[in-house]
Amino acid sequence: MNRFTYAANASRVIFGEGSLAQVGDEIERLGSKRVLVLSTRGHRSHAERIADALGAKVAGIFDGAAMHVPIEIALAARAKARSLDADALVAIGGGSTTGLAKAIALEHTAPIVAIPTTYAGSEATPIYGLTEGGIKRTGRDAKMLPKVIVYDPSLTFDLPLALSVASAMNAIAHAAEGLYAADRNPVSELLAEAGIRAIASAIPGIAADPRDSAARGDCLYGAWLCGTVLGTVGMALHHKLCHTLGGAFNLPHAETHACVLPHALAYNASDAASAMARIAKAIGRPHAPSGLYDLAREHGATRALRDLGLRASDLDRAADLAIANPYANPRPLSRDALRELLEAAWSGQRPAE
Ligand code: NAD
Repeated sequence: MNRFTYAANASRVIFGEGSLAQVGDEIERLGSKRVLVLSTRGHRSHAERIADALGAKVAGIFDGAAMHVPIEIALAARAKARSLDADALVAIGGGSTTGLAKAIALEHTAPIVAIPTTYAGSEATPIYGLTEGGIKRTGRDAKMLPKVIVYDPSLTFDLPLALSVASAMNAIAHAAEGLYAADRNPVSELLAEAGIRAIASAIPGIAADPRDSAARGDCLYGAWLCGTVLGTVGMALHHKLCHTLGGAFNLPHAETHACVLPHALAYNASDAASAMARIAKAIGRPHAPSGLYDLAREHGATRALRDLGLRASDLDRAADLAIANPYANPRPLSRDALRELLEAAWSGQRPAE
């Protein structure tokens, strides 16, 4: 066995349909008495449900979570946490809501209880992001890692199919890049393969019946494993491209991942053959890039960046930004090759095998 370093990120994970009812016990275990519950405005009803269940232990609700954690929202949420003297943050929602809890915890020490409703995987990482003046900066800090994660598949029954598949591709992307990360290790590889397999096999079940608890549960389970990989090893070309596109052109997160992933993998395929073989095996298709493209296509996910609002005239700037800050990647980066990759993801063509 090769040399490796492995640092586990320890959260307490409560999994299963109906596990939302256990949030009260978890707050009791933490000894918290002044909980701030976080959500988006659209899903305030989720936060109210938690508040009803926790009763007097809830100090307040902040329902302003938004994509990419704008600094103004983070400041308002921190002020609320301070004024309420909140001693725990319960985030119910997708990566945007979990991200808001992390942005608060960066300055206001309080344990996070994350209750994910998408497959973004942020709940399993110590990574935070904040957007200021159109620039999104990210960092890692162990105190951002949620203390408790409650996965209840029934919370995802109403996640629309196209967004479910896009979010699932977001999770798969963490594991796929984890399989060729320079600092991967035997544990991250096991998690990555198992995570991709669980998600790929769950998607057809979700498409057939969005309220299929077993399929939703498998997809959440896979998202947890893939998120754990993201929190453990460094990411490469795919994540950097999505980060650039999201920050500079304000593209939606999950859908951008779904469009870019097949092409980022095609770019790296010749220099990461063993990772590609493992991904292909996990999705049960002969080739990783075209296999993931087909998985998305067969189940209605967006595959073209142009459908997300990126203009052809944006591609040169996107390529310039993508090459501006060098980072580790299996295949060396060249501006012309990145421009080609971006054009393929923009038009939504199927990657060659
Ligand atoms: P999101 O949280 O913004 O949710 C996307 C949309 O889905 C929103 O409109 C939301 O209201 C809706 N939604 C969420 N759950 C739903 C449900 N169960 N039913 C119906 N609608 C639902 O997006 P996301 O893709 O979950 O997360 C993206 C954000 O998370 C980005 O800011 C990204 O940078 C961040 N992220 C961070 C990490 C990390 O490790 N730090 C990892 C992945 C993503």
